[in-house]
Amino acid sequence: MALERTLSIIKPDAVAKNVIGQIYARFEAAGLKIVAAKMKQLSRAEAEGFYAVHSARPFFKALVEFMISGPVMIQALEGENAVLKHRDLMGATNPKEAAAGTIRADFADSIDANAVHGSDAVDTAKNEIAYFFSAIEVNSRA
Ligand code: UDP
Repeated sequence: MALERTLSIIKPDAVAKNVIGQIYARFEAAGLKIVAAKMKQLSRAEAEGFYAVHSARPFFKALVEFMISGPVMIQALEGENAVLKHRDLMGATNPKEAAAGTIRADFADSIDANAVHGSDAVDTAKNEIAYFFSAIEVNSRA
């Protein structure tokens, strides 16, 4: 197993539902440590930049609108196999397909408003963490 970091975003719908603490508790119970965190109202440019890889997709405009509809809670998580472990906790992109007990099954309303983001690979995670946090804002807790 490898010590990894991954980027988590609690999206505006879940922040509005006031479940940040419940989601954090799931990270901690799974052995993931929060090594950086900030609440932020994303600008349109910041949301477009973050999701640039999806810019040609039909849902891009709606996704950006949703991501700027309220503040998000952004954190870097550290732990063994953090990327996959976090994806498992999140559940499938579409909450209707998400396994019982996952964050999206419990807190997401739709594929558009699906509560959380998580990096999909170690390399992506590096870039996504650097998008929101400078090196000195990330604290190793290994
Ligand atoms: N998304 C959407 N409609 C779709 C597919 C994706 O609104 O048909 C949004 C959704 O918020 C998702 C994000 O775009 O979380 C990024 O999509 P991706 O396939 O990378 O899913 P994820 O990695 O977030 O599970």
